[in-house]
Amino acid sequence: MAQLYFYYSAMNAGKSTALLQSSYNYHERGMRTLVYTAEIDNRFGEAKVSSRIGLSSPANLYNSSTLLFDEIHTAHQREAVHCVLVDESQFLTREQVKSLSEVVDILDIPVLCYGLRTDFRGELFTGSQYLLAWSDKLVELKTICHCGRKASRVLRVDQQGQPFKEGEQVQIGGNERYVSVCRKHYSEAITTGSLQAIYGNQHPGQD
Ligand SMILES: [Zn+2]
Repeated sequence: MAQLYFYYSAMNAGKSTALLQSSYNYHERGMRTLVYTAEIDNRFGEAKVSSRIGLSSPANLYNSSTLLFDEIHTAHQREAVHCVLVDESQFLTREQVKSLSEVVDILDIPVLCYGLRTDFRGELFTGSQYLLAWSDKLVELKTICHCGRKASRVLRVDQQGQPFKEGEQVQIGGNERYVSVCRKHYSEAITTGSLQAIYGNQHPGQD
């Protein structure tokens, strides 16, 4: 039986690396995968998933109007698909998460989604909300705060290292604008308006 998986984390937990490793494991056994990533994330300027350790894979782009079930069904009819992997899955709509669960239930293809749980305000992304609600398997990819505790929050910081309290949920750019922190240090940074509680006088861009 195929299952719907959600691998979630704060930033910088190696999500893309984990996705590429899983895809590679299928290829090694002569199986075919379909890789998706969000069109909104154009960090690398083209349709592919790249990891910081140098791995990459071509990818299909999705946006909020992509009909995922239809696309995957068509591809599967042309040539059997053994696994679907979705990066940046926090950007999926509710309907798209439903479509992916139908890929699992009707087409019997496992779907592995990788994404962020919450935004820099600590609010769930829409895709993550429904993946948390409907996935068969939830797997947390852990990363740590500067203090050694588990990082469960993401701070968005400006160039001077001041954390944002409000703003648009989506602002894709380099990771230097985001810092993974534990809940305690998230609160302290927001309350004091600086990262000094976390880093002392060290520059946050170095982490
Ligand atoms: Zn901490």
